[in-house]
Amino acid sequence: MNTVVNYETNDTIAIITLNSPPVNGLGHPVRQAIQQAFKQALADDAIKAMVITSSGKIFCGGADVREFGSPLATADPILPELFNQLEASPKPIIAAINGLALGGGCELALACDYRIAHASAKMGLPEVKLGLIPGAGGTQRLPRVAGVETALQMITSGEPISAEQALANGVIDSLVDKDSDFLQTVTDYGKTLGMEGAVKSCANLSIDTQALPDNVFDDFRKSIARKTRGFLAPECAIKAVEAACRTPFNEGLLFEKELFIQCLNSPQARAQQYLFFAAGAATKVPGIDPKTPIRQIKQVAIIGSGTMGGGIAMNFLNAGIETTILDLNAEALTRGLGVVRKNYDFSAKRGRMTEAQVEERMALLKSTTDYSDLADMDLVIEAVFEKMEVKKAVFSALDKVCKPGAILASNTSTLDLDEIASATSRPSDVIGLHFFSPANVMKLLEIVRGEKTADDVLVTTLKLAKTIRKIPAISGNCWGFIGNRILEPYAREAVRLILEGASPAQVDKVLTDFGLAMGLPSMIDLAGIDIGYWVRQAEADKYYSQDPAYQAVCDKLCELKRYGQKTGRGFYIYEGRDKKEDPEVMELAAELAKQHGVTQRDISDQEILERTIYMLINEGAQVLEEGVSYRSGDIDIVYCNGYGFPAYRGGPMQYADEIGLQTVVDSLEKYRESLGEYGEQWFKPAPLLKKLASEGKSFKDV
Ligand code: NAD
Repeated sequence: MNTVVNYETNDTIAIITLNSPPVNGLGHPVRQAIQQAFKQALADDAIKAMVITSSGKIFCGGADVREFGSPLATADPILPELFNQLEASPKPIIAAINGLALGGGCELALACDYRIAHASAKMGLPEVKLGLIPGAGGTQRLPRVAGVETALQMITSGEPISAEQALANGVIDSLVDKDSDFLQTVTDYGKTLGMEGAVKSCANLSIDTQALPDNVFDDFRKSIARKTRGFLAPECAIKAVEAACRTPFNEGLLFEKELFIQCLNSPQARAQQYLFFAAGAATKVPGIDPKTPIRQIKQVAIIGSGTMGGGIAMNFLNAGIETTILDLNAEALTRGLGVVRKNYDFSAKRGRMTEAQVEERMALLKSTTDYSDLADMDLVIEAVFEKMEVKKAVFSALDKVCKPGAILASNTSTLDLDEIASATSRPSDVIGLHFFSPANVMKLLEIVRGEKTADDVLVTTLKLAKTIRKIPAISGNCWGFIGNRILEPYAREAVRLILEGASPAQVDKVLTDFGLAMGLPSMIDLAGIDIGYWVRQAEADKYYSQDPAYQAVCDKLCELKRYGQKTGRGFYIYEGRDKKEDPEVMELAAELAKQHGVTQRDISDQEILERTIYMLINEGAQVLEEGVSYRSGDIDIVYCNGYGFPAYRGGPMQYADEIGLQTVVDSLEKYRESLGEYGEQWFKPAPLLKKLASEGKSFKDV
């Protein structure tokens, strides 16, 4: 028998076992082998029922993404066809879901007559995360089997559900507890099935639309609107489930196929699939053996219990790691620990964790004001004020007390990591671990590799990112690293455009219409306009971009104590959660424009879009050329997971590849000319961008 699928019999039952590690992906050889086994079972009169299961811990991870776009993806039998054949089987088939069943794996289970899951199994349809909808009958079978609301929830979120939830929602028929012999239990059940009436084809099921709540689809659309703004696939998924309610099964399948192809051919699917692979690639460091032995991280300390310190600590507490926070005095510690407790209590109130889980986590949290308590720490993360002399003092203190081999990390947003490391006698143990605010929520972890950072320190932190469920991207050491460095010219243009006559609301709208979670003026109002101001004051000579006119706007707002949301005024006026435009900002901009010799005019939305987004791309090219980033994909991982760039555009670099690099170069050259001296200073296309464009290449080719 083909090794990717095993076939054996147990009395009247044929057991078809997927055996294609690591995830039993449904590539062409596996599809063919399932079909062959299925035919063999049909042809054998002694066989009354079939069980489909898998070896290993995963039932089936779904379609083989490596086949996407290749002729193999459409080689016979294609998935929908195979599943239709299984469903039409005159002998009942039981899916014995022994582990994770994702995407095509979940659809395989849905095409069977019965679904019995092991208590540890999970089921999900994550296609939306790749810009797709389930394309092998999932959108038509799931609502028939489990109801419209469960189908909408599972398909549009892409999140897997537990076996228990699957049972409660009718996705599976029964569940086998952890102590029973799973396969034996399912096989025994198969033997009890008579042929008559045992076959339950979805094709014969219809959905009772009368029983559905009024406006179920529109209400559902509204409930996910904020999360799915701009994404094509969730809306296609809703349409497909709507069709399942209205049309016979076979017509529904055809409609699903149409929508699937629409998604598959969209730039969004390309972007989201690209990001999926980029996240995998981002964990690999050229020149370092991934098998490099890692250091054990059992005890962690955080220095500073402010905005970032508390949030960073929560990541480790959530992973069950004992964590100590150190701050200057008891008052700061009480405040910081109070915030951690408040966040957990809030989660418990929302039903995201139990009271017992809150107490478990809080019990892992210790605090101190004494550096000697950090002697046994495996990892220390500094999150104190963004001032070089403060950071150096902290690292020098750590150097004195920490055991050999401890990893010393800084959460600095912009400062020179090598200079920080120079305050210690062990720069090879120093690394940047740049978390994003709120640190317990944001997915990105920018790992900054200093000049002397040891390979095993880097590999350990990459592994650690996984433990604390962050998405890592590695950056070299430069001002602002990948994220904030690229942000700087983008922010400069956004503010400069306000100086030239655009309103903060216009700039925000262009950027949010493009898909960003937040426009730049709103973003700095949220972060605090004063943050950049203080960094500029402290490190004026090292600050990356030095356009005085742009900085004048932010400096003026700070002088007026308009720090943003926290003071109720910034680029906008805030009343509670509401914000409104402030004519004073426009007056202020007009005045500063005059002082800096900037002529105000009407600015088009297109100009705002090009001057901001193309700046991210141009600086991204520079970062890539300098080797600060290993791959354009790393830049995109940073932007989509830390800066609210829409995943359906794949990040600034993928967006540039999609529209063509020459388009970006032409636009930059246009503004270089039209903006005079300012244009000449800031709009020169990066050499790498220009070179790739002239060769007709893309960033992916680097
Ligand atoms: P914060 O002002 O909220 O907190 C800093 C904390 O450090 C305070 O509790 C302070 O008492 C403590 N502290 C100061 N000096 C200390 C010392 N010598 N020893 C021990 N504790 C000391 O600052 P934050 O916003 O949490 O920022 C901390 C770091 O994180 C900075 O480097 C910042 O650039 C970086 N960062 C901030 C954000 C953000 O959005 N706030 C995002 C990413 C990175």
